[in-house]
Amino acid sequence: MMEHTLRDIFKERAFFEPADLFCYSRDAVPCLEGMPDAVVQPKTKKEVKSLVEAAKKEGWNLIPRGRGTGTFGGAVPVEGGIIVDFAHMNRIEEVNKTRHYVRVQPGCSISHIDTTLARAGLQLPVIPWSSPGASIGGFVATNGVGLGSYQYGRIKQQVLDMTVITGNGDEFSLGSVTEYTPGYNLCELFVGSEGTLGFITSILLTSINKQNQTVVSAFFGSFEDTLACVQEVALTDLCPYTIIYDDATTFDFVREVTLGNPAATIDRNKRNSSGYLLMVFQQFGEQEKCTLESIVRHYNSHLNIGGISAGLWKNLSSFLPKVYRVGMISFEDTFVPVDCVFDVALRCWEKADELSVRMFMGGYVASRRTLVLFPGMVVNERDEEEVKRVKVAKDEIIKITLEHGGGISALGGDKVGYLCGYPARRKVMQDIKDVFDPCHIMNRGKLGLR
Ligand SMILES: Cc1cc2nc3c(=O)[nH]c(=O)nc-3n(C[C@H](O)[C@H](O)[C@H](O)COP(=O)(O)OP(=O)(O)OC[C@H]3O[C@@H](n4cnc5c(N)ncnc54)[C@H](O)[C@@H]3O)c2cc1C
Repeated sequence: MMEHTLRDIFKERAFFEPADLFCYSRDAVPCLEGMPDAVVQPKTKKEVKSLVEAAKKEGWNLIPRGRGTGTFGGAVPVEGGIIVDFAHMNRIEEVNKTRHYVRVQPGCSISHIDTTLARAGLQLPVIPWSSPGASIGGFVATNGVGLGSYQYGRIKQQVLDMTVITGNGDEFSLGSVTEYTPGYNLCELFVGSEGTLGFITSILLTSINKQNQTVVSAFFGSFEDTLACVQEVALTDLCPYTIIYDDATTFDFVREVTLGNPAATIDRNKRNSSGYLLMVFQQFGEQEKCTLESIVRHYNSHLNIGGISAGLWKNLSSFLPKVYRVGMISFEDTFVPVDCVFDVALRCWEKADELSVRMFMGGYVASRRTLVLFPGMVVNERDEEEVKRVKVAKDEIIKITLEHGGGISALGGDKVGYLCGYPARRKVMQDIKDVFDPCHIMNRGKLGLR
């Protein structure tokens, strides 16, 4: 029945062979796995609507998927179901230079949007580190944060409007071409809903004029000083596009990986021995230079403008895809209050030692009050014991973060236990899901909801 209906709607874009299904059984990190019953690749909204109607009748579970670069199992079929892969809904529908917006389909890769905008002298204000692979639909559905967030906020601040097809089969737009839409903020409700309320089928995003970038950096005698310096920068009026920080283990690891060394290792003895701060500015003048020079001097460092900083930035931007040559990387991006980040890092290092996990530490600054701490862990996927230890480490990192008043990004299928600590919030979320998805066909089990 399922196969017949799906072939009828999607023709050669419906897949049932185990080898095809296997490719959709996980996302970028080995945390969750599950085989779907089928995969479909819609090209039009009409096809999505027909699928929703059939799923309502038959009680199928529909799992939206962008490019599967998520790290929390959001697009993984934990209890079977049909993967709805948006790879073919990948058009840029309109670039409007006067109104500073771009209208895209959800399956567009973020770097494709950015390259197209660059030709018109524009850029997206905020992009994730995974932009060469990630889709804009996935970035919006997880309320992503990334490069540019220090200056421009999260992706929710960039979404002006979206068209959605809900789990009830209704299609409507949630915002407008201006930022001003009265009443409940439905756009924000769908941003971050992780495919549990409906399908995002079109997105209207703000764009900004393409900016020149000045890259500056400073190296410090300890990771602790590096983080203290971040705190001081956050207290000033400076507004860099992005601030990145790393400990010495990450610095060495990045260098080895970018030099192409497949045996790159993490020397945990070097952790607090040094660290660095890299800042990208879209406007960098005498005032920025003087303020920063006086801050870094206080920590016995000096400011590098361009030169070595630009080289470091180039390596960092291309580091994450290359790192997969060394091994699978598992990471937990946690949001930590700016003044506790060193304590959280210390506790994470202790846990990594206790569990014999290979961890490197760094991150970026999400806003004046919040740092994204990024404990990355190298995992040999063939070593079952190591995979188990890394899973325990991930849970411990979340626990440590929450104890310090921090938060986590998306929940997906991996962190559903999180909402157990907030029963009232979970109930309201389920009530909201029931309105948009009364037959419970949308990404069942994710966020811990039916
Ligand atoms: C190396 C690396 C670096 C990363 N850096 C960042 C970063 O800087 N910032 C950040 O926020 N994340 C980052 N991530 C996580 C991930 O890349 C992002 O969450 C990304 O935006 C997900 O996009 P995707 O297309 O791969 O989505 P998927 O993984 O396919 O899906 C993610 C979620 O979105 C839902 N979804 C997808 N498309 C739709 C749709 N059309 N309608 C409704 N729901 C939909 C899915 O059901 C799922 O719940 C990183 C991941 C890796 C591996």
